[in-house]
Amino acid sequence: MIESVYVEAEVMDHPRTREVLARLPRATVHTIERYGELFNRKRQNFRLQKQQPALILARKHANHVLAAPPEYNIGGQHNFYFSHLLNCVYDCRYCFLQGMFRSANYVLFVNYEDFFERIAATQRELTTPGWYFSGYDCDSLALEPWSGFAVEAINWFRQHPDCHIELRTKSTQIRGLLKQPAIDNAVVAFSLAPDPIARALEHKAPSLQKRLDALRQLADAGWRIGLRFDPVIWAENHEQLYGDFFTAVFNALPVDAVHSVSLGGFRLPTDFMKTVTKLHPEEPLFAMPMSTSDGMVSVESQREQTLLRYCRDRILAHLPDDRFYPCQAIDDSVEPLKDG
Ligand code: SF4
Repeated sequence: MIESVYVEAEVMDHPRTREVLARLPRATVHTIERYGELFNRKRQNFRLQKQQPALILARKHANHVLAAPPEYNIGGQHNFYFSHLLNCVYDCRYCFLQGMFRSANYVLFVNYEDFFERIAATQRELTTPGWYFSGYDCDSLALEPWSGFAVEAINWFRQHPDCHIELRTKSTQIRGLLKQPAIDNAVVAFSLAPDPIARALEHKAPSLQKRLDALRQLADAGWRIGLRFDPVIWAENHEQLYGDFFTAVFNALPVDAVHSVSLGGFRLPTDFMKTVTKLHPEEPLFAMPMSTSDGMVSVESQREQTLLRYCRDRILAHLPDDRFYPCQAIDDSVEPLKDG
């Protein structure tokens, strides 16, 4: 539960601020000038804040819509992302947000209308549909009971069929989506991992079974679903672990409803990795053999390529390859390792 809400003076009277505050009647409300004075302050303790994050309500003034990194591609020619929310209720050990932000507090930009206007303006420059990814700096659904963002976004995208949205999540907060008819220009994409890995690394996130149940309900209600296996994490028993996992996932879901599947290994920018390792010096994931290349740290190449290949082959045993979007190159020339 949120105990403290900090509100920028300029959005104190925004109708969405009032709605959010009404959903948090017990929270203490403080007025601030700019969210950065709190969020970007030096010498904050991310781990301590993560135990009881505050919520900051602010206005986003610029850069509402940005070009997506190349690995954000699920078949579209034009790919963008937007961040109406910074930070996440979950606490995944591999999450890059803890390396990127000094603060674990949540920032919700309440001027959704400006995000939608900028998406419309971006789309006017294009001749083919654009993809707009939500959930790059947050989880798209986890704060839905307070933010109501996904419901508003879907209502907006319903009126703008040339704009496609991906809501990326691990959350089961799907009630708002199930209350409205599905639209063809949205994909609700769940990040999934084998249960032992989810339990070890994806702290506070719903179990694999709960995520599969949510995906199933969305698919049954006509929503297009996405499966994001990113990051897959190396394990000595990877064949057994991921073999059983993919069987369980594809047995639980109607393949026809699956719009896209993506796959990527554990990787972090080098400076983020240094920060994250300091936050969790005891974490076995960071003790694995790693390699560094082009400013990115990833699991040592033979292990990484073995795992990516194995996962790709298991995925393609269930799904046509025109729905498969690897986030990284998969090198078939590397000698694969077998289960140890
Ligand atoms: S769910 Fe995503 S955004 Fe949230 S902590 Fe995990 S990796 Fe980070």
